[in-house]
Amino acid sequence: MDFSLSDEQRLIAATMRDFVEKELYPHEDEVERLDEVPSQLARTIRKKAIAAGLYAPNMPADLGGGGLDAVGVVLVELELGRASYALQMLVERPSNILQACQGEQRERYLLPAVRGERHDCVAMTEPEAGSDVRSRTTTALRDGHSYVVNGTKHFISHADVADFIILFAATGEEQTPRGPKKLITTLLVDSPSPGLTVRRGPPCVSNRGYHQCELVFSDCRVPVANRLGEEGRGFELLARWLGATRLQVAATSVGRARRVLEAAVQWAAGRRQFGQPIGRFQGVGFQLADRATELEAAEMLTLRAATKMDRGAMTDADAAMAKLYASEMLGRVTDSAIQIFGGMGLMTELPVERWWRDARVERIWDGTSEIQRQIIARSLLRPYGG
Ligand SMILES: Cc1cc2nc3c(=O)[nH]c(=O)nc-3n(C[C@H](O)[C@H](O)[C@H](O)COP(=O)(O)OP(=O)(O)OC[C@H]3O[C@@H](n4cnc5c(N)ncnc54)[C@H](O)[C@@H]3O)c2cc1C
Repeated sequence: MDFSLSDEQRLIAATMRDFVEKELYPHEDEVERLDEVPSQLARTIRKKAIAAGLYAPNMPADLGGGGLDAVGVVLVELELGRASYALQMLVERPSNILQACQGEQRERYLLPAVRGERHDCVAMTEPEAGSDVRSRTTTALRDGHSYVVNGTKHFISHADVADFIILFAATGEEQTPRGPKKLITTLLVDSPSPGLTVRRGPPCVSNRGYHQCELVFSDCRVPVANRLGEEGRGFELLARWLGATRLQVAATSVGRARRVLEAAVQWAAGRRQFGQPIGRFQGVGFQLADRATELEAAEMLTLRAATKMDRGAMTDADAAMAKLYASEMLGRVTDSAIQIFGGMGLMTELPVERWWRDARVERIWDGTSEIQRQIIARSLLRPYGG
């Protein structure tokens, strides 16, 4: 497999790196302190990203997006992942699933999202239904030309600033040999809407300035015209785009880990104890060596999955392995960084403790590490009827 980059790919990555360093890094401390991206700053960053042609890199060119293939998307995510989440999300990658919009939906949701005029969020998780996605209790029951939605979602990222919600709700049940199975349907819900309450959830230790919300639907009417795809086929729709989302998590984890490792190496080279740089002690140098090796492996795994995706050959297990390995590698890299920085690693004066906190969520969202392992194990056992 050839991972050498074309001149165009090199240029895309360099342009994104430049943007991240000039437009995002300088605001990280402020966002951390405020736990908020000031709205004027958010507008400015979005505007600059659009002007630089960096917005919506994951969307097809004929829709006005970056038109990158999966490898190209990974390359930009490697750069975006370096910056703190609340800021890098302003260089928006509208949810991939929006590409399923049809007719009017394209004008009202997809195209404004690609242009940066409207912003989406995805609402799957419920207080009683996290990993067990089939056990959703939020319902959308058909009544004439509307669905009437009732239920509660939680942990929904940036719903406080989203203009519409990509909602997964149960529209019925089917009988299967394994018992009844919920039929999940995807709906586009404008926010605000009558019958919808959006409120901030509890503060999260990771990614300050990027908030999770609770959504309460109480007889909230959503036009049938806002259904994405067929009724009861929400999971199939989701499954088509989930791989790309997991590669995004893998790539941003690799990008972040590279930044953290660079900082740890510099510290180990400059900090002297017992008359020499601490990096010369085997206990420190070997940590750096192990983390650097894992980082390269995670990047290769992610690029390999993206290459397969571009050939239409990526499996669920490929995406799961990349997400699992990269997010766990990031956890080890940030933990080693704290150790190598010593006490200074835990002081808020430096960003190391922030990187460590922020890394933790990558093993949880978009399917926990255990769920990724389950996907991989199932794919291993399937040929043997397991
Ligand atoms: C900061 C943050 C942002 C989020 N943003 C969004 C969002 O925008 N939209 C959205 O819909 N959701 C979002 N989520 C939800 C996220 O996807 C869920 O937290 C995640 O899927 C796990 O669900 P849970 O938290 O309910 O944990 P649970 O499912 O209750 O799991 C608890 C533990 O049990 C383990 N476990 C569960 N089932 C199994 C199993 N079968 N085998 C082995 N272990 C298992 C899990 O791996 C985990 O360790 C976000 C979460 C966080 C923390």
